[in-house]
Amino acid sequence: TEQFLMESEKLLIAGQLAAGIVHEVRNPLTSIKGFIQLSQSQYDEDKNRFYLNIIQTEIERIELILTELLTLTKPRNSHVESNDVEQLLQEVITLIDTQAIMNNIDIHITIKDKLPVIYCDKNQLKQVLINIIKNSIEAIINHGSITIEGNIEGKHIHLCITDSGPGIPAHLLKRIEEPFFTTKENGTGLGLMICRQIIESHNGSMKIRSSSKGTKIHILLPINTHKMIL
Ligand code: ADP
Ligand code: MG
Repeated sequence: TEQFLMESEKLLIAGQLAAGIVHEVRNPLTSIKGFIQLSQSQYDEDKNRFYLNIIQTEIERIELILTELLTLTKPRNSHVESNDVEQLLQEVITLIDTQAIMNNIDIHITIKDKLPVIYCDKNQLKQVLINIIKNSIEAIINHGSITIEGNIEGKHIHLCITDSGPGIPAHLLKRIEEPFFTTKENGTGLGLMICRQIIESHNGSMKIRSSSKGTKIHILLPINTHKMIL
């Protein structure tokens, strides 16, 4: 029962999200406008090149925010089919391996039970794992490790992603899933919110645990969801 948000609560969240989007997009727009005005007011080539660089960075920021937000809307080509979780994990690792290696991070996968296929939108689930692993990579300073464990827990597949990063301070833990909450210079603060939205739309659940020794994210996904429509 508490899982299901009331319509009024949904509207409230949508409103907060919209306000956040406006704010996050308006800031770079204001800066773009300002630098265009500046470059129109003078003809110094070097300065104008510098302004153009800033304008480009700001446009890329808007693009990033909009691309991430797009995963929140129901994908029109939502594609639910049976997927091998182990294979999906391998594909995710392939995508993210270079980034991990460059940061001196070992990624281990340990699958205890032979995992059954689950019905899910492959790209959405990949998005979840990428967001989580990326956060771990970004949190780990110098070198460290990320472990992805998979096992069966009753009628669910249980995935657990653990990192050896510095963890999330207790006073921030309740804020990290708020849209646009970030502690990173170039973060969007959308990653975890999107993860939860995708997992819950698959009738699963997500739980975040953190201490000074690192962060652990548990994901439960139901095994029998043949009739699921996203
Ligand atoms: P972003 O990565 O753009 O900041 P997220 O929603 O992915 O947005 O994460 C929100 C915040 O949660 C991060 O800015 C960071 O402070 C914190 N966080 C998330 N994952 C981890 C992690 N594995 N270790 C430490 N902090 C984390
Ligand atoms: Mg993130």
